[in-house]
Parts: sequence; structure tokens; C-alpha cells
Amino acid sequence: MIAQIHPDDEQICLGQDETLEENAGAVMPPIFQTSLFRKGTLGQLQDELSEESKNYVYTRGQNPTVAVLEGKLATLERGERCKCFASGMAAVSAVLTGLLKQGDHILFVNHIYGPTLKLAQHLTRFGIEHTHTLELDSGKIESELLANTRMIYFENPGTMMFRLVDIQKLAALAKKHNILTVIDNTWATPLFQKPLTHGVDISVHSCTKYIGGHSDVVAGAVITNKALMAEIFRGAYMLNGGILAPFDAWLLIRGLRTLPVRLKQHHKDALVLAKNLQKHPRIKNVYHPALQSTSLSLAKRYFTGYSGLFSIELNTDKFKDICRFVDALQLFHKGVSWGGVESLVISPNRGDNQQVLQKLQLPPGLVRLSVGLEGAEMLTDDIMQALTKL
Ligand SMILES: *Cc1c(COP(=O)(O)O)cnc(C)c1O
Repeated sequence: MIAQIHPDDEQICLGQDETLEENAGAVMPPIFQTSLFRKGTLGQLQDELSEESKNYVYTRGQNPTVAVLEGKLATLERGERCKCFASGMAAVSAVLTGLLKQGDHILFVNHIYGPTLKLAQHLTRFGIEHTHTLELDSGKIESELLANTRMIYFENPGTMMFRLVDIQKLAALAKKHNILTVIDNTWATPLFQKPLTHGVDISVHSCTKYIGGHSDVVAGAVITNKALMAEIFRGAYMLNGGILAPFDAWLLIRGLRTLPVRLKQHHKDALVLAKNLQKHPRIKNVYHPALQSTSLSLAKRYFTGYSGLFSIELNTDKFKDICRFVDALQLFHKGVSWGGVESLVISPNRGDNQQVLQKLQLPPGLVRLSVGLEGAEMLTDDIMQALTKL
């Protein structure tokens, strides 16, 4: 499959939506490095203060540089509104704390980014409950709903194992029960998957990954409709205060400029690498959404391209074997996060967490690769030589 990006989306990333009249024709939006905005009269100030989501009053509410980014992300995701945050976790926090209250229940579906589950655990002290299911069949998911389930939160593909959810079925099921749906769409980015067009209510992103793309900024975004955003803005956005700084917004606008071309390359190189590794006798499985025969139809339905993050399962369950393999890699840096130009490697196996792995149905030989832009051939060679050390 060749990665497909909507031509309009490509133009937005490149900045064709920015006008000549704005900012003296500057080809990059300026950084509005200001905390507040002056008004001509006290009357005007008071008027604008009463609707901070619509006016430039204070940068904790709206800032023009941040607004350029938010406008782009909203359009790319096909949502009405976007707000950006100081991190992906701040975005997730704003959705959970902004829309839920004491006594509500969240159902997490599929493998979920670890800190998101820890946040849910943290929220139990405020009376917000949660359960987590790895079932992907919508009938089975329905049987996990409780009387007080107010939100279904999921990832597609799921973290680490890259299993796929039938988004339309899940969204329809949630609507039937009057439950909000939230997807963490970080992996696919708005260029490769558009969950809101399949009936999902809210999309969250860690912009730290592909959108930033250069491992130099930590940021997050929430995209949804006007009504839900109004609720999030009033409470969790303005009051939790985890806003994105204007300079960081500018870095993300810069990241967006090359997002289409980077993603097409990540797509291509990760697929080549994944297919090369599939044939190796020391590799038991390759977990890439395009290579799982059971969910290929879902992959084709929801993705117009694949990003560069996938996992391999080594033919071993010994932590010291995994260490030997990972330590022998030369191009893949050992580190957290992903989505930058440099290739990265990590394993959920910490040597002392077998029970956690078992509970989450993660095989002990699992190794996650973030394929950067070094080239598929060099990356394949690097992995092949490291496999000889296993
Ligand atoms: C990194 C990540 C987050 C959290 O984002 P931060 O920017 O690190 O706070 C959330 N979800 C997924 C899938 C991630 O990879």
C-alpha cells in the first residue's frame, strides 16, 4: 500500500492556509511571546474577559501563535475545535477531568499508553472509576459496560501490540448507550486516520511524537466539537492551566511543514523493515498493523498510511537475551518516546515485571522499534547484525 494524504491536508501542513495579508507576508507565523493583550477601553476588556475562548485576553486562554496551530489541527482532524496543551498527558488529563465527575466510569479498550492508565488510577481518589478490557469484539466490549460508564477511551492501533479496533462499531455502540468516545490518535496522526469522521467524539494527540517530529518539544492536543470543547475550555483548560507556550506552538507549526513527507518515508521504511524481519528465524512475530492477517480489513478501512512504530517479538523470554540484542544495535538509540527522525528501541520487559506483562498479554520477548529516517536498508542491516548476538 502507498501512503495517501489528502491534498488539502498537505497544503495546510505546508502553510497554504496562512494568508499574505497577515503578519506582513511572513512565511512563518510570528511567535506572539506575550502573556496579555491590551484593550482600548475598560469596557472592551470586560466584554472580552467574559468570553476568553473567543478573544485574545491572556495567553492562558488564547494566543495567536497557538491559535494558528489549533486551527490547522482542527481542520486536519475534521473537528470543529482544537486546543493545545503543554504535553500529551495534559491533553488526556483535560479530557478526563474536564468531562467526568465523581461516580462516572471509564472503560479503556485495547492496549493503552501506560501513563494514561496511571492517570485513571490517580483519578480514583476523586471518585472516577475505570476498568480496562483487551477484548476487541464489540459484543464483548458491550458486556463490559457498567450503568455508570460515561466514557470509552481507546487507541487504534493499541500501544505495543498494535491491535486494531473497529472504530465505527465502537462509536455506534457508545452512541447507543449515550457514552462519550475518546481516541488517542497519536500513532496515525491526523494525516493517516480521521476518527471523528467515524463517529468518535474526541481525539487526543501527543504532539511530542510525529507532529513535532524532531524530539525537541513536548506538547498535546484535543480535537472535538464546539459543545464538548466549551466544557473542556471552561474547566480543565483554563483552570488546570497546562497550556502550550507560543514558542512550542511555533515549533509544532514548523514540524507540520514536513509532516507529510516525513510520514510517507516512515510508512515506507517501517513496512520494508517489518517485512524483512518477518522472515528471520529468531523473530517469532512482527506486530505491525499492515501485517496482521486477522485485522487487515480494519487497517485498510481506517488507515490511509502507517507510521513508523511497530514491535517485534524475539524468540526468547529471557531478559538478558533482550538486553544483548538491544545493546548490540547501533543505529537504534535506547530511549523512550518515538516519532522523531532518529530510530529508537525499547522493551516493555524490565526483567522484574513478568506479572504485569502477563496481565497485559504482552509477550516477554517484545521489543518496540521507532523507525526514523536513516533508511530501511541500513536499519535492516543493523537489526540483522544485532540478532546474531542474541
Ligand atoms: C507519548 C504518548 C502520550 C503522552 O504524551 P506526552 O506528550 O509524553 O505527555 C500519550 N499517548 C501516546 C500514545 C503516547 O505515545
